[in-house]
Amino acid sequence: MSERMPALFVGHGSPTNAIDDNRFSREWIDIGKSLPRPQAIVVISAHWETAGTNVTAMAEPATLYDFHGFPQPLYEIQYSAPGAPDLARHLKRTMSDTEINLDFSWGLDHGAWSVLCRLFPKADVPVVQLSLNFDQPPAFHYGLGKQLAHLRDEQILFVGSGNMVHNLRRMVWKNIALDWAQNFDDILAAYILAGKHGPLIDYQALHETAALAIPTNEHYLPLLYILAMQDPSDTLNFFCDAVTLGSISMRSLILDPTG
Ligand code: ZN
Repeated sequence: MSERMPALFVGHGSPTNAIDDNRFSREWIDIGKSLPRPQAIVVISAHWETAGTNVTAMAEPATLYDFHGFPQPLYEIQYSAPGAPDLARHLKRTMSDTEINLDFSWGLDHGAWSVLCRLFPKADVPVVQLSLNFDQPPAFHYGLGKQLAHLRDEQILFVGSGNMVHNLRRMVWKNIALDWAQNFDDILAAYILAGKHGPLIDYQALHETAALAIPTNEHYLPLLYILAMQDPSDTLNFFCDAVTLGSISMRSLILDPTG
């Protein structure tokens, strides 16, 4: 009998969470220790947007340093997990409604490795990334998550990596929460706990501050993939549920099939 894998959405915040010892990095380490060992990991990262939906299909994905002006130790991290070309081809074959293209040029961006280096520090589980098709509305991404959900039963661990509330222009370099950011995070949390996914897909209508909380949706969309995979038997738990840097929600969640 196969065991269903959990699924996670992780608010990744600053790339420095990969090297800093703080509340978030410690909670990621603890969550990682609690996870069963998957066959492979599929990461849906805010930092890979493409025309069409791509999946990395190389045997040895490179560690990408897709940020500027951060401390040198970040540029020295090598997250050398193997790729999973067979899984990439399997994804392409099983998606009958959505065309998925095999990619040989990307790798693991910081949305993937800054979190995975805490969850799976040994880098010994194969990883593929699935891109965000920037031509498609939120409902498409939720629908694709639904199509992918059955792979949880094949020991595939899905990790959505973004931030539920994410406004870089309003960011402040302090560990504080701006009122509107905390308020929108609270609204999202309430809908998530209630299992009301329709309003979360139509997030722009949730509140008058939606455009402030989610000015562009690449950090929000990975959440929709993971919510779409929720099974009635899953227990949903939040972790890292705090707004930091004024306008970045680190709220993360795990769908746990074992309760
Ligand atoms: Zn990011």
